[in-house]
Amino acid sequence: MCLPVIVVGAGPVGMAAALAVRAHGLPVTVLETDRADRERPGSRALFVHRETLRLLDGMRPGLAAEITSHGQTWHTKRTLYRGREVYARSFATPLRPPESSAASPSAETTESTGGLPPFTSLRQVDTERFLLAACQSAGVDFVWGAKVNGVRVTDTDAVLTSEDGRSWTSSRVIAADGARSAVRRELGIRMEGTRSRGFHVVVDVAETPGAELPVERVFHYEHPGVGGRSVMRVPFTGGFQVDLQCRDDDPHASFGTRDAVHEWLPRVVDGDGHVDRILWVSTYRFVRKVAAEFTDPRRRVLLVGEAAHLFPPFGARGMNSGIADAAAAAEAVATGTPEAVGRFAAARRTAALFNSAAAGAALEHLRPRRRIVRAKQRAAAALAPVLPWCGQWLERAPYGPRHGSPASAGRKY
Ligand SMILES: Cc1cc2nc3c(=O)[nH]c(=O)nc-3n(C[C@H](O)[C@H](O)[C@H](O)COP(=O)(O)OP(=O)(O)OC[C@H]3O[C@@H](n4cnc5c(N)ncnc54)[C@H](O)[C@@H]3O)c2cc1C
Repeated sequence: MCLPVIVVGAGPVGMAAALAVRAHGLPVTVLETDRADRERPGSRALFVHRETLRLLDGMRPGLAAEITSHGQTWHTKRTLYRGREVYARSFATPLRPPESSAASPSAETTESTGGLPPFTSLRQVDTERFLLAACQSAGVDFVWGAKVNGVRVTDTDAVLTSEDGRSWTSSRVIAADGARSAVRRELGIRMEGTRSRGFHVVVDVAETPGAELPVERVFHYEHPGVGGRSVMRVPFTGGFQVDLQCRDDDPHASFGTRDAVHEWLPRVVDGDGHVDRILWVSTYRFVRKVAAEFTDPRRRVLLVGEAAHLFPPFGARGMNSGIADAAAAAEAVATGTPEAVGRFAAARRTAALFNSAAAGAALEHLRPRRRIVRAKQRAAAALAPVLPWCGQWLERAPYGPRHGSPASAGRKY
């Protein structure tokens, strides 16, 4: 049997793609290697941008309201340099609660998403929980325990095979099978880009009832408590994420293990007992890679999310841009022509290259290779009390440029 659309991978991007395909009125089957009762790790993509919420609400009316009612929007941002505050700003809380669109599934107008916050912060596991429930109620068909390891594309269809010998045929495949995408590998599409040497440690901590920390995002350059390494703290519903930036030659055992976190965490977060409430510890490197092509020569397979691009977490481009890919891929699949798929591939690769360059600018600031950058940061920190734009620069630079990607990419991310 030839299925109209298959999505490979039930991560956030694959589930968004499946929802978007359903919003276009097409049946869709998701093949996922994990079992249905899997446990996904950690906070990861905390920051869900307003544009992403709009897209999700267009895919499934009401989804943005569900996500924002669970998520948290912080209204204070602070930046410190070696123990001294150089920037602090609090924004007014939006007065209107989020509304959802009850209109057409593809509606994406300002009216339909009015009242959405600029972003919402929740653990990726929670976002995925909402996406899965939305998929189930939208009639998405899931095949769990299906590890795709073969792809054959012909002029009429694409045939996917799994490790255990099953096969599926479809006219179009959306590959959302993550950073180690088997579909991308089978198509012979290479990733192009770079990977940094040093690593970051990311820790999720559940908040202490009655002793919750202020709901604010804090970036601390050269924190004295950890030998001058930079630290960020980001709140999410029920806790907070701490990101420690290690040096190129730091041994993993000194910072990246649970024992090591027990040592350094109390020195960077105020309050007692946080080490007893650690939910997750992980390490990652800054990787910036973009697939050389976002589709195959016959335009039957569309790469989305981390199957197509890898960006560092700072700037929140990973999942947000993946969901923009998912919306664009579903539209191309619904149009159903090779030309539409070609347009998807060109537009989303342009966006990915923009995102990668933006992450590169952030990286240049976060892990400066040149002494002049550190000297500029030191000077800006010294001048911030009298020249507020210096503090503003220190506040913004770790996340890269804020302006959107080129108009031809079609989206902010
Ligand atoms: C520490 C950390 C912090 C992050 N912070 C942010 C952030 O703040 N904002 C942001 O936007 N992003 C962030 N990201 C990135 C974000 O987590 C990813 O961009 C996101 O998970 C990518 O989603 P995806 O669906 O493309 O891939 P994945 O989440 O990797 O999902 C891929 C799915 O495909 C399945 N799969 C894999 N291979 C196969 C196969 N052969 N057959 C069938 N199924 C398969 C997997 O089991 C999985 O379910 C962060 C990542 C990390 C590690």
